[in-house]
Amino acid sequence: MNGAIYAADMWCVDCAEKIKQRIRATGGAPKDEDDQTSYDSDEFPKDCDKAALNTVEHCAATASCINAIELDGFKIGCWLENDLTAEGRVYVIEAVRNGRDGADNQVTELWALYYDYLDFESDDCTKVSATVLIDTDVLTEQRALIGTLIGNLCDGRTGFCIRRDLPTLFGIQGILDTIADST
Ligand SMILES: [Zn+2]
Repeated sequence: MNGAIYAADMWCVDCAEKIKQRIRATGGAPKDEDDQTSYDSDEFPKDCDKAALNTVEHCAATASCINAIELDGFKIGCWLENDLTAEGRVYVIEAVRNGRDGADNQVTELWALYYDYLDFESDDCTKVSATVLIDTDVLTEQRALIGTLIGNLCDGRTGFCIRRDLPTLFGIQGILDTIADST
């Protein structure tokens, strides 16, 4: 992803640079800025090394972000182009669908564009293959998800469907197969 972590928040490269300049001006910058192991992200912005996140990350500078996105009536921090974990995909699908049910969906419609490979429409659980979960690095999460999903099986379509209000749409059997294949 594109950004830096500082003071427990994530910032775009340009806003992080502005923070760095401010810290340098006060003489508080680390001796070797390139040696990111030598300082803490609470002291000085560090490159974010997280590949995928559970949410959509926008620059923490929000409306003051140098690259802020101007929407109708307000601004938000630019998108940090992060990938999503399995949980993040669920979160985005839910947010986009909830946004479409409500009036204010400017942000979630942006997310729908950023992550246009997700399926925001389908109510047919079996249509969504388990391929979204195949990455081995999310295997642990899959195990956790199964616990959640099994608790949410819908009555009518046992075995494949989870409740509609939980539009994660991952087929339980598919997840189990995926795990069986990768272990
Ligand atoms: Zn920014």
